[in-house]
Amino acid sequence: MPVLQSVNPYDPSRVVNYPQLSGEQLTRLLERARPVFQTYRKHSMVQRKEGMDRVAVLLREHNRHFAEIITREMGKPIGESVAEVDKCAWVCEFYAEHAAEFLKARKVKTDAKESLVQFQPLGPILAVMPWNFPFWQVFRFAAPTLMAGNTVLLKHASGVQGCAQAIQKIFTDAGFGEGVFRNMAIGSDRVAQVIEHPSVAAVTLTGSGAAGRSVAEISGRHLKKCVLELGGSNAFVVLNDASLEKALDVAIPARLQNGGQSCIAAKRFILESGVAKDFIARLSVRLEHLKVGDPMREDTDMGPLSSVKQAQEVEKQVKRTVEMGAGLVRGGKRDGAFFGPTILTGVRPGMPAFDEEVFGPVFAVMEADSPQHALELSNRSPYGLGVQVFTRSDDSARLFMEDAEEGAVFINDMVRSDPRLPFGGVKQSGYGRELSVEGIREFVNVKTGWVGKS
Ligand code: NAP
Repeated sequence: MPVLQSVNPYDPSRVVNYPQLSGEQLTRLLERARPVFQTYRKHSMVQRKEGMDRVAVLLREHNRHFAEIITREMGKPIGESVAEVDKCAWVCEFYAEHAAEFLKARKVKTDAKESLVQFQPLGPILAVMPWNFPFWQVFRFAAPTLMAGNTVLLKHASGVQGCAQAIQKIFTDAGFGEGVFRNMAIGSDRVAQVIEHPSVAAVTLTGSGAAGRSVAEISGRHLKKCVLELGGSNAFVVLNDASLEKALDVAIPARLQNGGQSCIAAKRFILESGVAKDFIARLSVRLEHLKVGDPMREDTDMGPLSSVKQAQEVEKQVKRTVEMGAGLVRGGKRDGAFFGPTILTGVRPGMPAFDEEVFGPVFAVMEADSPQHALELSNRSPYGLGVQVFTRSDDSARLFMEDAEEGAVFINDMVRSDPRLPFGGVKQSGYGRELSVEGIREFVNVKTGWVGKS
């Protein structure tokens, strides 16, 4: 069985090998998963809440320690890693506080003596997770899932096994029993075996379309529910009546956070003709001042991408887009895993920077003649995670709220996830929702109860 490798993208000579579980270890773990669930599901909501609050305390107390593991394994600036760990604490606190209310049985008036709807746990849930937010993606799933009384089987991305181990230890240290949150060090070629196992009740995957299709197909064959959080190519729309200063302030983090490797990053910049020239010129100046370098330094704005391979992929997409006629205003250069902030102009449907997800610091810019035209361009993506629109017009805001084919519409702000609001996509961005009340109800048995008159 090949080892799983974590390679520090800033210094690729620093490699850590993680042995995979043997076939026998994996089988034993899966067989134990049901009995562990049967015990855990009986824990009261108060017990679960106490555990989840302890998890939040551990995350906040040791945020720098966990942040360094993240930055070492996937290269994001240390300040962003600390913020990611703190957000994980927030989602734990949020569900610790609200799970009881979200899952409260509902009495319904019928002709029965009593009828009700209960929300009960399903069993062990498999989570296949990506490297880009290696803590956040896991916690935003695990917090509601465990509060609902399910148990978690984590298959994390191969390159962030240090994060995976650290997360399991947090749950164990917080008092969740052995196996309630179980990390499985396995490669993606063994995911099918886990889905097929009778212990596993359902699956969630955050990752690429290719992985999503494979997991959905296998889950479908075994009639197991799955939630898919896949890629995105969000539009960032600036209309003629917008505050340009505000739009520019948001554009930089919206595109460059996490080195541009975020599913909800702004990727296609659709500028109404009256503001396009000014926006591009001012954006270009701002990008000049960014500090790109060692992600462990507090003053670094952008580190390397997560791997040389990832940077090469972005380089290819930029090259192909330019070959098809787009302008290269700045950037476009790669050095190992580093890729400089890049502006492409004249991007059109049919070009890779329009049709595909570009997972790196590339602003793919295009012009629109009107708000309606901007909406049409926004909707022409195969993805549908979210859109942000900058405008002072209520009519334009309403146009996007009504007709954008997206999981989220943000007006005059950046698309982001928030535990209080549901998160997820339509079209090629997947299905199902995480966070808020919708998220905790994805993996429950909505059980109808009826007591007839005797
Ligand atoms: P990825 O290659 O799909 O990997 C994600 C996870 O799936 C990893 O654990 C990976 O394991 C596993 N995997 C890969 N191929 C698989 C297969 N055929 N069957 C089963 N599991 C498989 O994606 P990534 O490159 O890590 O992450 C980037 C992608 O995730 C982007 O498209 C991004 O937009 C998306 N994403 C979406 C959201 C969202 O909420 N919508 C959030 C973050 C990221 P190995 O590492 O072992 O290959």
